[in-house]
Amino acid sequence: MKCDPNLYRAASPSLAVKPRLIRHLFLPPLIIAMMIGLGYIGFWISEHYGIRSLGENGQRQLELHARAVESEISKYTYLPSLLELETSVSQLLADPTPEHRQSVNDYLEGLNRRSRSRAIYVMDTTGRVMATSNWRDVDSYLGEDLSFRAYFQNAVRGQPGRFYGIGSTNGEPGYYLAHGLEEHGKIIGVAVVKVRLEAMEERWQKARLEAFVSDENGIIILSSDPSRRLKSVVPLSDETKEKLARSLQYYWFPLNELQPLARETLSEGVEKLTFPANSELVSDEENISYLSQTRPLSDTPWNFTLLTPLQDLRREAINQGILVAVAFALLAFLLIAWNERRKVIATRLAAREALQEANNQLERRITERTTDLRASNERLKGQIRERRLAEETLRRAQDELVQAGKLAAIGQMSTSIAHELNQPLAALRTLSGNTVRFLERGQLDVASTNLKTINELIDRMGRITASLRSFARRGDDKGQACLGKAVDAALQLLGGRVETIHLQLHRDFTDVQVQIDQTRLEQILVNLIGNALDAMQAQPQPELWLVGETFDGKYRLRVRDNGHGIDAEARKHLFEPFFTTKPGEQGLGLGLTLSASLAAATGGHLGVEHPASGGTAFVLSLPLVSPTSAEPI
Ligand code: ADP
Repeated sequence: MKCDPNLYRAASPSLAVKPRLIRHLFLPPLIIAMMIGLGYIGFWISEHYGIRSLGENGQRQLELHARAVESEISKYTYLPSLLELETSVSQLLADPTPEHRQSVNDYLEGLNRRSRSRAIYVMDTTGRVMATSNWRDVDSYLGEDLSFRAYFQNAVRGQPGRFYGIGSTNGEPGYYLAHGLEEHGKIIGVAVVKVRLEAMEERWQKARLEAFVSDENGIIILSSDPSRRLKSVVPLSDETKEKLARSLQYYWFPLNELQPLARETLSEGVEKLTFPANSELVSDEENISYLSQTRPLSDTPWNFTLLTPLQDLRREAINQGILVAVAFALLAFLLIAWNERRKVIATRLAAREALQEANNQLERRITERTTDLRASNERLKGQIRERRLAEETLRRAQDELVQAGKLAAIGQMSTSIAHELNQPLAALRTLSGNTVRFLERGQLDVASTNLKTINELIDRMGRITASLRSFARRGDDKGQACLGKAVDAALQLLGGRVETIHLQLHRDFTDVQVQIDQTRLEQILVNLIGNALDAMQAQPQPELWLVGETFDGKYRLRVRDNGHGIDAEARKHLFEPFFTTKPGEQGLGLGLTLSASLAAATGGHLGVEHPASGGTAFVLSLPLVSPTSAEPI
């Protein structure tokens, strides 16, 4: 049974491979891209909310520290105006005698010590220092002309002079608070207090706070990080730079810009700044980002800026981003694994279903074929039955024919049989008559001899009739025959005629077992040898050759005579029933026909050859019982 190839045929490779190839090509980059994307989103959200939370916290810190700065500065605002109340000061400005100066110097020295300011001094309206708290120092301001200072210029005009600058005498930075001293509504001089604000820087550093204060020019005047000090937080035009240089507000410092690597404005007064990593607070080389929160300081044009480092937040945001990316990768991996497993299960199910379907189909086909086979088997059985019946009929007909042939042969031989039997019968009659007479005479020896001869004759007659009976008997198609025995029986049956013509017999065959009934083989041989004897009647030296050979699982016996042979016309009709060339009642023309059919019935064959040397040779082929057992006799 053939399987249907369509049942097990795989899908076309191009169709089966393409989607998988696309998946394999595009899925990993897609997953990686999504990992990066989601990781970045995670990072961004974490950073965003972190900044917001830091901002809220920073706002409180900003307020706190800005207030501290404000109180530190406002502490000194009253001090210069206080000098207006001091009569020695107005006396000095009205009458600058050495006595007055000294008394003011002493007063200022004491006041400075008590207020913990850096210096307190008094200038006349031309900007010359008339008296100062540091009159004892070598770098005392006494007598110096500070009219170029902005705080003086403001104060002399009646405006409050607030100024952060670097001292032109000793290069020391300080916060200058100036106040125009009035008398009778007229400015007679200017009182100045110089304050050091570095203590605030130290406090910030101790508290590990990053903060700075920038002045009205945008210059950082106070900073927890000294490297940022005196740098501008806004870009300065060349004109402003020149003006500031001329005022010597910042002495000769270059006033570089505090240039962040990146600046991002988050809201009013809130920025994200990134600086190169040159701070002492960070050890590695990473750039450092800050949340910058700025608030103006009241009563001053200054701004206080609090810087909150973002690296911890950034690190945490990166970790969050990585966590999101890893979680996504894990989820993607689980999804892919689940999907693959689902597909494997689906494929297995499909394969199982296909197999089941194939099995069902096969079973259906088997059932169909079995039904077909059963039907054809039944048909065949019917045909076999018919054939058997036909064969039976044929065999019966053949048997009948054989029987008819045998009877015909018997009839044909009846004359010679009668002759063969009459001769011993006549001899018996004579011998028995003589025996009676010899017994009457008492010649018992002669009588005994006669009786022995009578016995022999009776035996001979019995053998003849036995042969005839055997020949005439209905035989069987199947069976085994011994070739030597069959030849002997045939010759014995034809014994009389053989002896009459003084036949010279050549036996050159093997005593093999052939597949034919013994009697039928004898019958064939009787026919063949009998015909040969007929053909050799006129032959003065009749010779008969019985030559055998094994050929292709069969045994071939060639029965050749040196008789008159067969003419060309007779050769055409040799095996036709009732064809005979024998005159009168001598031939019925059934011998060869029956012999050929007897041979064919056992799977053998009977043929004829016409040797060039004369005579005729009939070739009888019969299947061997055991092809290897052929031995010469
Ligand atoms: P019948 O012997 O009754 O004629 P057969 O069938 O035996 O019938 O023979 C048919 C004919 O074949 C014979 O009449 C004879 O002419 C011819 N024939 C058979 N055998 C030989 C033979 N050995 N030599 C010559 N002719 C033969």
